[in-house]
Amino acid sequence: MASTRGTAQGALLAGALVTALVGCSPERAGTPPPSPSVRLTGDGAIPDNGSISLSDTGHDALRGLDPALLEAVRGADVDARLDGVELRVTSGWRSHEYQQRLLDQAAVTYGSLTEARRFVNTPERSTHVSGKAIDIGPTAADDWLIRHGAAYGLCQAYANEMWHFELLTTPGGECPPPRADATD
Ligand SMILES: [Zn+2]
Repeated sequence: MASTRGTAQGALLAGALVTALVGCSPERAGTPPPSPSVRLTGDGAIPDNGSISLSDTGHDALRGLDPALLEAVRGADVDARLDGVELRVTSGWRSHEYQQRLLDQAAVTYGSLTEARRFVNTPERSTHVSGKAIDIGPTAADDWLIRHGAAYGLCQAYANEMWHFELLTTPGGECPPPRADATD
């Protein structure tokens, strides 16, 4: 198994290098990739009300995540499926620019930047930009993960976002109480 995975990672790396060489101009400043082996060419966006599978390995929303976080969520998904629930990804890694765009849109939606900040962090503070957060859906999956996530180290980070999970404890540990919202 280990050697198969190594080969797959090698192929992924080779593909990423080709993409980087062909598609990336040096002056295009983006968020620094979380590891030197991962080149992210997109912004990580998943369309509104859309979701991707945890096995969609080519999507930047997953490729930009902390590998430990992705592994934990995949482990949880395997067990959730035994309960008839699939964990779908509605948001993962986001580029700095994409996060700013979301904040700008939220400011329009909520009428002010102050109100928008309760739901959308700044690019500097967002754990999506640093690859440390993942949004899960649908609601049944959120319910499942809130109840069982601590077994994998996964915790609901904000009380007003039942879909947003981060690695906030050790597997089998206890989650800290969720913070009130993204301004907390
Ligand atoms: Zn989130």
